Amino acid sequence: MDLLFHQDIVVATLASGSRGNCTYIGDDRSGVLVDCGLSTRQILTRLDDLGLGGVRIEAVLLTHEHADHVGAARVLDERLRRRQGRPVPFHASRGTRVGLDRRCTPSGLVETVSGQTFRVGSFVVEPFTIPHDTRDPLAYVVERGGVCVGVITDLGRSTRLVEAQVSRLDVAVLEFNHDLEMLLDGPYPWSLKQRVKGPHGHLSNAQAAEVLVAGASSRLKHVVLAHLSDDNNTPQTALLAAEEAVQRAGLSDVTLTVARQGTPIDPIRVRARTHPVAPPRPARLPRPRVPLTKDTGSPQLALFG
Ligand SMILES: [Zn+2]
Ligand SMILES: [Zn+2]
Repeated sequence: MDLLFHQDIVVATLASGSRGNCTYIGDDRSGVLVDCGLSTRQILTRLDDLGLGGVRIEAVLLTHEHADHVGAARVLDERLRRRQGRPVPFHASRGTRVGLDRRCTPSGLVETVSGQTFRVGSFVVEPFTIPHDTRDPLAYVVERGGVCVGVITDLGRSTRLVEAQVSRLDVAVLEFNHDLEMLLDGPYPWSLKQRVKGPHGHLSNAQAAEVLVAGASSRLKHVVLAHLSDDNNTPQTALLAAEEAVQRAGLSDVTLTVARQGTPIDPIRVRARTHPVAPPRPARLPRPRVPLTKDTGSPQLALFG
């Protein structure tokens, strides 16, 4: 019973939006965080609130260097090291490593390359390239026991690679950033509107819907609508686009959940497809890297993540 219990995959988006992003993927004992863009205190408090306060964080997977994704990295690194008694690897692309503000840089960065899968504890992680206005942004698919969870946010357009990855997902945390009309009629300056809707900006509701129609397979059972803009979207508008997409794709029994900035989602639980699951192994210790070049990047980019 204990073994079966731990084969449930738990997905909990702790926060999502331009002021901070963080998603837990794991089980009731251990797992990974994708991004850490809200304060360390908030990350730990929200895990606690969900009954996941005792989980061991095996690794933190960084998607890109915008502050709403990496803001807590250095402090979280120190806190996890104290709490768990050993360093926790932070995975990021070389471009993200170079682009990280020194104030956010954790001590144990492990370089990650699109398409090169690696193991973290009992999970297999595949990073893959997405188009966004940073040096080398990544999305991640995390797999265990035949269950695949993808976190795909901060991309200006879909690609064949994105659709291919979506086709193997059971749970998709997918960006539904803006409604195009709201963006165009909204308060942003024109240059920022251009950036958000550009090919290296953010996915609109309609674009995200197309990703589902083109990519999703019958194994997709949960979609978390993520990184919604406060100014240029509403949960209702995004949900409507997702519902229509699910219908058009002919999918059934798909739950749709809007991830919020201020509160975590109720954890999604998915039963593993394959048995037995390998016992968790300690993550590989990161090797220290050479000091990073200071690069604070554009404050505007950091602000609008
Ligand atoms: Zn962002
Ligand atoms: Zn971003």
